[in-house]
Amino acid sequence: MHLARFPRRRYTNAPTPIEAMPRLGAAIGANVFIKRDDLTGLASGGNKTRKLEFLVADAMAQGADTVITVGAVQSNHARLTLAAAAKEGLKCRLILEERVPGSYKPDASGNNFLFNLLGVESVSVVKLGDDLQAAMEAVAADLKKLGRKGYIIPGGGSNALGSLGYVACFEEMNGQLFDMGLKIDRIVLASGSAGTHAGMLVGAAGCSVDIPIIGVNVRRPRPEQEGNVFALAEKCAALAGIRGELRRQDVVCRDEWVGPGYSLPTPEMVEAVQMTARNEAILLDPVYTGKAMAGLIGMARKKEFGAKENILFLHTGGAPALYAYQNILEGR
Ligand SMILES: *Cc1c(COP(=O)(O)O)cnc(C)c1O
Repeated sequence: MHLARFPRRRYTNAPTPIEAMPRLGAAIGANVFIKRDDLTGLASGGNKTRKLEFLVADAMAQGADTVITVGAVQSNHARLTLAAAAKEGLKCRLILEERVPGSYKPDASGNNFLFNLLGVESVSVVKLGDDLQAAMEAVAADLKKLGRKGYIIPGGGSNALGSLGYVACFEEMNGQLFDMGLKIDRIVLASGSAGTHAGMLVGAAGCSVDIPIIGVNVRRPRPEQEGNVFALAEKCAALAGIRGELRRQDVVCRDEWVGPGYSLPTPEMVEAVQMTARNEAILLDPVYTGKAMAGLIGMARKKEFGAKENILFLHTGGAPALYAYQNILEGR
């Protein structure tokens, strides 16, 4: 792989740490490690930071003065896109998709509060099912009339270019594991807009490393999500120019921990967030990593992992959303 030929801005003091989780591991009967991509740079960090290193560099290379993106009402991606814009002296306009009817509250805490603190230029709210691409293009057209130039970043930063952030993460992790002398047998991660999962698969293929990667879905049924991840991985692999092989059967997206739907709490998520906080002092989030860790705990309890296997959980961030879920996490 030859990622250095892509323009890139740097937002993280890499590498992010890989740590053991001995107390959580003992509680669930598995050997668990964690890659702390909640500790990437930009305000409160998370996986979108790595994608934005490539996406914002491209926006700047194209002479854009404003970035435009879309996310859910408590979107970490929207927060981090705005944070990258602030750091680069760009403006940012957000479109929030109300995936759960009535869920947009202008005075909500969590990421929503940070949108204002980080100086968003405008927020508009659309309903689930509205054409998000058209909404972003309308914002770009408005900017053009003002003599400005917008750059559209898709939801989650999940196009081939953004996914390169997780190709780079895989390479980084692979080098760390070698230095640490740590043999990992499986990787577990949250699979949403698919860029993280796709990038990691491309990184594994590019490095010729055959560690199985298990995605835990947060929104979609298994066949749909596996199709999305594979399609994006193929595009990303073509862009990255990898020589290794991407195989459809390597794309695994488990959907048993989605619960009633995207962003809607489940008892397993609450347990996973609490266990990780109380055993390891690591904060997960209610929408993505809480459900992904619920998946890891569920698989461990079902004895899906071998006794000697080492499992690596990719922490993709999101803790600011906890502050919008206080009642649920306190059982109220
Ligand atoms: C966006 C997000 C994910 C999912 O990553 P995708 O690349 O969208 O699949 C996981 N965890 C957190 C905290 C996120 O914000």
